[in-house]
Amino acid sequence: MKIAGLQKNSFVDYPGNLCAVVFTQGCNMNCFYCHNKPLIDNEKRNENISSEDVLEFLKKRRSFLDAVVISGGEPTMQKDLENFIKEVKKLKFKVKLDTNGTNPEVIESLISKRLIDYVAMDIKAPFKRYQEFCGAKTDINRIKKSIDILMQDIIDYEFRTTFAPGLGFGDVLNMCNEIKGAKSYILQKCRGFEEMSNFILFTDSIKSMNKMIKKVGTRGVENSA
Ligand code: SF4
Repeated sequence: MKIAGLQKNSFVDYPGNLCAVVFTQGCNMNCFYCHNKPLIDNEKRNENISSEDVLEFLKKRRSFLDAVVISGGEPTMQKDLENFIKEVKKLKFKVKLDTNGTNPEVIESLISKRLIDYVAMDIKAPFKRYQEFCGAKTDINRIKKSIDILMQDIIDYEFRTTFAPGLGFGDVLNMCNEIKGAKSYILQKCRGFEEMSNFILFTDSIKSMNKMIKKVGTRGVENSA
């Protein structure tokens, strides 16, 4: 595993759980608003933190933490992700995977082996506009396949969209329609572009979204009655 960083505890990255967050190096997208730009470079080597270091840290925190979030970058690009998660699971932690959804086979395999408990998958834009926002050639069928896998409801999940400059509420409704029937959808503010992506989610708008999604949530986006 190429590990770029470890956040030792977080209350906000896994709903209802106190967790540590492991950041992997490398991503197959290049979103212009990415808040973790240094993690995109697939060739970069991170010498200062190894899987062994992280597991050693987790062993000492077993009584304090509930869960481990594996984030990035894009964790599903890591060849030894499964083995790493197996070691985390031996320590009895719940595991949440943050992913951009480009590797449905990895997601499916981890779910079928009961190695992950929760997935947060990015929905970058309506399918037709994906490339504008993800900054890389992406096979939209692979994104759709990951959506289908999660919507089988085998484990808990959320879809989430960063409300990047250039997206409008019409796009949000289109995305909701494309994941119609989903359990949970979170709209989150775009850090670093707050002024350009100010967005108030009116109660009526939430009602429109709720016609398609069971639970709609926001992070950092203002709600108004
Ligand atoms: S998918 Fe995530 S980590 Fe990759 S470039 Fe986009 S925002 Fe950054």
